[in-house]
Amino acid sequence: MRIVMLGPPGSGKGTYASRLTSILGIPHISTGDMVREEIRAQTEIGRKIKEYSDRGELVPDKIIIDLLVERLKKPDAQRGFILDGFPRTIRQAEALERISEIDVVINLNVPDEIIIQRLSNRLVCRKCGAIYNRLTLKPKVDEVCDLCGGELYQREDDKPEVIRERLNVYRRSTEPLIDYYRRKGLIKDVHCNDLMTPPDVIVNKIIEIIGGLKKEK
Ligand code: AMP
Repeated sequence: MRIVMLGPPGSGKGTYASRLTSILGIPHISTGDMVREEIRAQTEIGRKIKEYSDRGELVPDKIIIDLLVERLKKPDAQRGFILDGFPRTIRQAEALERISEIDVVINLNVPDEIIIQRLSNRLVCRKCGAIYNRLTLKPKVDEVCDLCGGELYQREDDKPEVIRERLNVYRRSTEPLIDYYRRKGLIKDVHCNDLMTPPDVIVNKIIEIIGGLKKEK
């Protein structure tokens, strides 16, 4: 199964994708995680893209497409994948089409107030990337990852002034993809209107959608 998770920043793409990965046995490929890893490791690419990422802007298409193409060549991606944060522009979607088919695009619909509350309270593990939330998904011990004991931190781009910019960028560059994929008949809408909805409720909705598609085949 080749799945694209579409939705604004803070719609839960990463949280749901990381749970789906263990249920479906296919990798969770987050271009945001790949970007942060390049920056952390201070690679040549990392140095080029840090400023875009810190400002909440998109990294140039060419750089991100090259990173993704390499990732999709790896053996674990041959049986399927869950893409989180890619594509984000029509150009990226067209590039993806040239290298792989897509079975379904899960479009997460979440009101802005929930997104802002989620992102401004989000914490991420520095070591394993697990996602927490000060309001809804608290770690057992403050600031410590339940899974690996790593330190939890707030992403540079989860600061309030950057969140606004990321939402603008989403509206401008990524939202047109909803129509693009709807015309291809690939979109399945999933709604989350309540901040306190447990992630597993949404994950189960997505599993039902995927189960339905497998039956259709
Ligand atoms: P995310 O974790 O998906 O919110 O991504 C964090 C940041 O990485 C974004 O604000 C962009 O600067 C960059 N990024 C991640 N994925 C992409 C993409 N597909 N295209 C362009 N920039 C991206």
